[in-house]
Amino acid sequence: MDRPARPLRRPPALNALGKRALESAERRLSPRGLARLRDILWAFRIYLYVTPGEGLVRQALAIFPEPVRTLGARCPFHRYSARSGGGYWPDRNEVWLAAGVETYEGLRQVVLSSRHEMFHFVAHNDPRYRADDDASWPALWGALAASRLHVDDFPRYRDWIRRSFIPQGGHANPAELFADIPTNFPDAAEIPPPLRDYFAPLLIGGDGGPDAVARTEPGDLASFHALIAGA
Ligand SMILES: [Zn+2]
Repeated sequence: MDRPARPLRRPPALNALGKRALESAERRLSPRGLARLRDILWAFRIYLYVTPGEGLVRQALAIFPEPVRTLGARCPFHRYSARSGGGYWPDRNEVWLAAGVETYEGLRQVVLSSRHEMFHFVAHNDPRYRADDDASWPALWGALAASRLHVDDFPRYRDWIRRSFIPQGGHANPAELFADIPTNFPDAAEIPPPLRDYFAPLLIGGDGGPDAVARTEPGDLASFHALIAGA
């Protein structure tokens, strides 16, 4: 997908009204009712509520340590007119997220989608993780290799890797796993200890990080999937 060209601007009063409508719809409607409402709204290309970028960055990173929040606050985060989609563009060092995520995927999902994109930004802007990214993630591979022995002790992590992450195929690469771990496992107690050491500065704060784990020579996507499946 090409980087969107134009940010969507919303009058704050319309946004405030739409937010109340969306919260009420999510609270009161059945899943089927909500799907029907979304069909009607999309016929008119309506976005009920579009969280301003800075607010979304704050929500997405609120549960993480202060250095992560401070780093994230530097990220230009734009909304644009589309039902779904978005991404982090390293050449511009900015995030764009579709304006429809709140209305068509939900108020909870928009925070998770933003969190995922923000950790692409963190990987690119925290020198420790940037060095690992630039080297094709040898420390992440190492942390995952050392985690193999432990995966059965972390069944939510194990099942998520096997049932949700790997089935994405070509998209299930180390850079995406890096962004998905803080998004899906912000509680470091839920991931194997070597992976916890690797992510510690981002999840817990303080020491750890890529320099705290043994490195492994990165391989191709198939060997990456075999490695994380713990097979
Ligand atoms: Zn991603």
